[in-house]
Amino acid sequence: MKKDTVLKKEFKHRDVERLRNLVQGKYGEKTTMGTGYTKAKEFHEEGDTWEEDGRTWTIKNGIKQNITKLDKAKEGIVLPLFCPTCSRTMKPHLDKRWFVMYGHCFDCQVDFEHKLRKEGKLEEFEKQVINQHLEGTIQDFEDWFDELINTKDHFITEAGDIEKWDGSGKAQLLKYKEEALEYLKKQKKE
Ligand SMILES: [Zn+2]
Repeated sequence: MKKDTVLKKEFKHRDVERLRNLVQGKYGEKTTMGTGYTKAKEFHEEGDTWEEDGRTWTIKNGIKQNITKLDKAKEGIVLPLFCPTCSRTMKPHLDKRWFVMYGHCFDCQVDFEHKLRKEGKLEEFEKQVINQHLEGTIQDFEDWFDELINTKDHFITEAGDIEKWDGSGKAQLLKYKEEALEYLKKQKKE
C-alpha cells in the first residue's frame, strides 16, 4: 500500500480554491470601479493582514476575507522535537502535516494505517477522515461565500482593483454557491 494513500484520497483544499476561482471567473457582470474611487484607503495586497470593523482581515487568492479563529489555531501549532508516540526526532518538512492531522509522525501514521489495514478497518478510517475534512471545507466555503456576498458589495481582485457586483450578479453568485455546495456534498463517502 502506498504510504500516502490517505492524504491522496483526502479532499484537497485546492479543490475549494478552484471553485472560488470558478465563481469569480464565471462571473461576467462585474464592473471595475473608476479611477476616482478611494482606492488608496482600501488598497491591500495579497497576504496583507489588517484590522477593520474590529476584525482581522487578509487577502487570500485575491479575495478580502476574515481570518477565522480556526486559521489562527492552525498557525499556532508547534511541532514538538520528538514524536509523542515513537519518541523519534520529528522531521519538520515531512512530519508537520501529519502531526497537525493525527498527532504523531509520518512513520507512526504509516504503522497505524498498516495496523488498521490488517484489522480490516482502514477503509472506515479513511472514510471518516475524508468526511470530517469535507465538513470543515463545506463550512469554510459557506462562511466565505456568505461573508463575500452579504457583507460587501465588492471584492478585491488579485491586481488589487476593487470590483463591484449588482443585484443580478448576486443572484448568479448564489446559484454558483448552490452548485459548489452540491459538488462538495457529493464528495462525501457513504
Ligand atoms: Zn512517531
